[in-house]
Amino acid sequence: MARRTSSGSGSGTGSDLVCSFCGKDERAGAAIIPGPGANICCDCVEICARIVAESAPQSKRRAAAALPQLRVPPPSEIKRFLDQYVIGHERTKKMLSVAVHNHYKRLTQRPAGQDDRFADVEIEKSNILMIGPTGCGKTLFARTLARLLDVPFAIADATTITEAGYVGEDVENILLYLLQAADMDVARAERGIVYIDEIDKIARKTENVSITRDVSGEGVQQALLKILEGTEARVPPQGGRKHPQQEYIKLNTRNILFICGGAFVGLDSIVRQREGRRAIGYTEAGGRSARKAADGAAPLAVQPEDLVRFGLIPEFVGRLPVLTSMAEMSEEDLVRILTEPKNCLVKQYQKLLDMEEVELTFDPEALREMARLAMKRKAGARGLRAVMEDLMMEVMFEAPGNPALKALRVTAEMVRKQSEGGEAAAHLLA
Ligand code: ADP
Repeated sequence: MARRTSSGSGSGTGSDLVCSFCGKDERAGAAIIPGPGANICCDCVEICARIVAESAPQSKRRAAAALPQLRVPPPSEIKRFLDQYVIGHERTKKMLSVAVHNHYKRLTQRPAGQDDRFADVEIEKSNILMIGPTGCGKTLFARTLARLLDVPFAIADATTITEAGYVGEDVENILLYLLQAADMDVARAERGIVYIDEIDKIARKTENVSITRDVSGEGVQQALLKILEGTEARVPPQGGRKHPQQEYIKLNTRNILFICGGAFVGLDSIVRQREGRRAIGYTEAGGRSARKAADGAAPLAVQPEDLVRFGLIPEFVGRLPVLTSMAEMSEEDLVRILTEPKNCLVKQYQKLLDMEEVELTFDPEALREMARLAMKRKAGARGLRAVMEDLMMEVMFEAPGNPALKALRVTAEMVRKQSEGGEAAAHLLA
């Protein structure tokens, strides 16, 4: 009964209202909403709202929960952040800062108003292609950008992807990694960053279309085209190959930023050939890249047509409008990488040994020697870690629990001895 004193309609007047759900009485101070045949108090309204919210399917609840507002820093701030982690590559830093700023600004743009002059202008997505030798910081760039923007980040390897029908992974698996990085939150994943490594390995083997099907090359480029451009992809939650009975997670790739990277070995001669061709008829012999390359580390002046000659299909190159090439790291760069970034190796080891109350220092010449050794390994800055680990292994084994060790100064001589093999780094402790 909705009304204590009257019978029939719950919305009549002249008597006290009673909540039909909990029995609370208007006279006891409860605010009661009268309805036809039943009344409800404000407390019961709240309880009902909670029950409805909790019984909604999870996906709907996620959609309803507003995504945190994306803060899009200005390019100068993005560059300053990159400067803290990545050494060198000044031009690439600027290009990426602008591209990433524009990409995310596009996501936050307001719906067009009537008086909007640019109502029918759609800002295109700026996927990025980074060309540079191994270990020069391509992955580091992508990871650092994702960290700054606080968006999910995934790394994929282009060589593991194959065309549908062949052994290997479907392109959609790339998106699964991103979803996993976003704790399977579709909305968050849809504005994440994916780094696709070794993109040069899916180039066609020749410029001419071969008679036999090129499994690893063109087909994979074709398969990637759609997700790079923006599509409603169907992602198999278990990964692997798709099959008809499977359930899929729908993920729109329109706002996902794809950064592709590769070393593109051999591209330099293609660039030089083109520049050489253009230079014929001019007094200068050789082109810009040829001269720069002779000067030492300078990025190649790559044009989209060079990438097509390398074996990327024109449509694929077209989906990567931001193109940047990075030079090989110099010895000087490697020394800076050892000492300058926020989490550089020297600081990491100093911190580790500080916990053992050991003060660790490196002579400048020791750092240079380490850089030289890393250069020999031809793995860019990646070689530094191996050099440092070899050098410090013995110390890290002995230092914990050794109260006699108070300070450790690494000299060039020690680095050289270590690199020559022999008695590991026992001399470091002597
Ligand atoms: P790539 O993707 O170009 O092969 P990475 O980004 O994986 O190279 O680099 C390997 C590691 O070397 C990084 O994690 C980082 O520690 C270091 N490194 C490489 N390049 C730089 C750089 N320019 N500045 C600072 N550290 C770098």
